[in-house]
Amino acid sequence: MKLPVVRIQRFCMHDGPGIRTTVFLKGCPLRCKWCHNPEMQKIEQEMFYTPSKCIHCRMCMICKNNAHVFTSQGHFYDRSKCRLCGNCAAMCPGKALETVCRMMDLDEIILEVMQDAAFYGKNGGITISGGEPMMHPVETIALLKAAKEKNLNTAIETSGYFDKEFLPVLCKYTDTFLWDFKDSDNARHIENTGVSNEQIIENLLIADKLKANIILRCILINTINFTKDHIKEIAALYKKLNHCTKVKFFSYHPMGSSKLERLGCSNNGKTEWMVSEKDINWAKSEFLRNLEAE
Ligand code: SF4
Ligand code: SF4
Repeated sequence: MKLPVVRIQRFCMHDGPGIRTTVFLKGCPLRCKWCHNPEMQKIEQEMFYTPSKCIHCRMCMICKNNAHVFTSQGHFYDRSKCRLCGNCAAMCPGKALETVCRMMDLDEIILEVMQDAAFYGKNGGITISGGEPMMHPVETIALLKAAKEKNLNTAIETSGYFDKEFLPVLCKYTDTFLWDFKDSDNARHIENTGVSNEQIIENLLIADKLKANIILRCILINTINFTKDHIKEIAALYKKLNHCTKVKFFSYHPMGSSKLERLGCSNNGKTEWMVSEKDINWAKSEFLRNLEAE
């Protein structure tokens, strides 16, 4: 069984309890306009091309499809001719060309994660992120199960948008859910992510009934969901949950925009979408105020 792994990040401190290794998978059913991992949206392979790293060695001319052309103007990479075989990226000494993901066996992933087993302690372990890990439900659940067999603490970072039939078995092998809640206003949710929030809320309530340990992660985006009503709805949702241990508010960050350029897309980064530390503190106190209100 294999999964498309974009990267395996060691010593993560913000992806669940303790010290963790986070496995980022490619593929997501949502298309959030503010996505900070745009290279993990499409399930198919893609190529990063960073012209500033190109040393003009012409090794990439190995391409049988003539996707790399050199003129007096410089190096041009023609994505329309590229079949994403990865041969040129494997040759590129400057890492100007990099395939976004590699297919890895579950055993291979576990082996890499186990390299830091000595540092995990009681709470740390593996977090599976993306993209949406449940784009690969069978393989992701098998990876979580394999991690539990190694006595690792397991966490999954999810949009919550997946088939609810998988929830009982997913909950069985997952110690912590880092559950993204992007917008309580469904029309806005559809407009900005491409999908409805109904399935996400339904799944969240089912996971809670199954006694899943949930951390709700709420991104705040200025001019989109940074509103009193949204905070009020988050508090109302939290009141329905019995096993949500934390609600985290954090700001949009335009860190995904430079990656879009490397994928051959236009940069959509909007610094005006960011909210300040003061705004985050306001959201926290507004959330608490709503919790205390009848
Ligand atoms: S192999 Fe890499 S560094 Fe060399 S010319 Fe091609 S893109 Fe540039
Ligand atoms: S990935 Fe393959 S097809 Fe695409 S440019 Fe490189 S060598 Fe050519």
